[in-house]
Amino acid sequence: MKALVYHGPGEKSLDERPMPELSAPTDAIVKVTRTTICGTDLHILKGDVPTCEPGRILGHEGVGVVHSVGSAVSGLSVGDHVLISCISSCGQCEYCRRGMYSHCTTGGWILGHRIDGTQAEYVRIPHAQTSLYRIPAGLDEEALVMLSDILPTGFECGVLNGKVQPGSTVAVVGAGPIGLASLLTAQFYSPAQIIMIDPDANRLEVAQRFGATACIDNVHADAVAEVMKLTDSVGVDCVIEAVGIPSTFELCQGLVAPGGTIANVGVHGVKCDLHLEKLWDRNIAITTRLVDTVSTPMLLKTVKAGRLDPAQLITHRFQLVDILAAYETFAHAANTHALKVLIEAS
Ligand SMILES: [Zn+2]
Ligand SMILES: [Zn+2]
Repeated sequence: MKALVYHGPGEKSLDERPMPELSAPTDAIVKVTRTTICGTDLHILKGDVPTCEPGRILGHEGVGVVHSVGSAVSGLSVGDHVLISCISSCGQCEYCRRGMYSHCTTGGWILGHRIDGTQAEYVRIPHAQTSLYRIPAGLDEEALVMLSDILPTGFECGVLNGKVQPGSTVAVVGAGPIGLASLLTAQFYSPAQIIMIDPDANRLEVAQRFGATACIDNVHADAVAEVMKLTDSVGVDCVIEAVGIPSTFELCQGLVAPGGTIANVGVHGVKCDLHLEKLWDRNIAITTRLVDTVSTPMLLKTVKAGRLDPAQLITHRFQLVDILAAYETFAHAANTHALKVLIEAS
């Protein structure tokens, strides 16, 4: 089968690889129909994720059809259409029992990281019974690829951890796919304002279309001053950090209102300053989280009910044989205006 293989920092190729096989009775093999590329895949290619070893098939998002199931898997049959969660969970360890699937002692984010991933024709899914979600008939499967990672991430790490409330004020720093996923799912709670902050004019235009109440270009404008103008000089109740660099985390600290929450979503590779000399008396909270995908069943229902339209995040389409071009398009989003690139695997 064809698969996109990581060969060390800066090196990847579309290789011929053997079909994956069931290696535990709790496994399933899924024929991947649609997958996509994540910002995390670009981090791996930069060499930022040393736990991902050369030879690894990348990808942790996708939908497909069950090809075979291990003897211990119940509730899934060959031929079922399934959504693949980016987080594998055994459902039984202490962390899984607490709903923290990302910290599953034999799972978590392993797909396309510690084990071969979804940018291939077939993928082996461990703990299949609790890591795959059957897709209800009649749903747009392409759109559901957005539910493998980015929508639960934007929702759980941003909106839930940020305690977005009806009538509250929200700022999202970073209008990439994850920031936009937070923007879409924050609207479940009817906040009074959702202010999107990003240097990219195209992304801000998309944000406006997706329901932002204000957009700030933080290269040409002073984002703190603009947010203060919009919030009677108090700042926002919830700041969602969806970039992952020191300057954006520091910006969030300037935007949070007394009693507010900074919900970090970004993947940070270096240390950041925390301005406790300004924040110590402001009753704020700072949260961190890796997505647990506990909200996936709920998000599936909102898509089915037409309350959430994840397909609007898809900007480009490729076949698996052209996945190197898909990576180029996704890596140069400022020029190509890519949000999510959809890859047809079969
Ligand atoms: Zn991802
Ligand atoms: Zn577990």
